Amino acid sequence: MIIFGWRRRVHDLGGKYALLCAHCDNQVEARLIKVGTWFTLFFIPVFPYRINYFLRCPKCGKATRVKKNQLAALQPPAAPAEESLEKAA
Ligand SMILES: [Zn+2]
Repeated sequence: MIIFGWRRRVHDLGGKYALLCAHCDNQVEARLIKVGTWFTLFFIPVFPYRINYFLRCPKCGKATRVKKNQLAALQPPAAPAEESLEKAA
């Protein structure tokens, strides 16, 4: 018997991106989130099936999808997030 399925992996890429939240209508510094949907075989992720990027509002938690061609147009964060520095070390 072959057991297969899908699993989501969420990575907080950090950063501070200027965003006018469409949900709570606040001007916030949003974090970039990467959500990958992986095909799994026997519960082991084998390859990514779909990858989406979102900007998450820190006030209300609403995630706004960012299309792949919009990623390059995003303003880079002013300073790296503390979490990303800790991961690199
Ligand atoms: Zn919001």
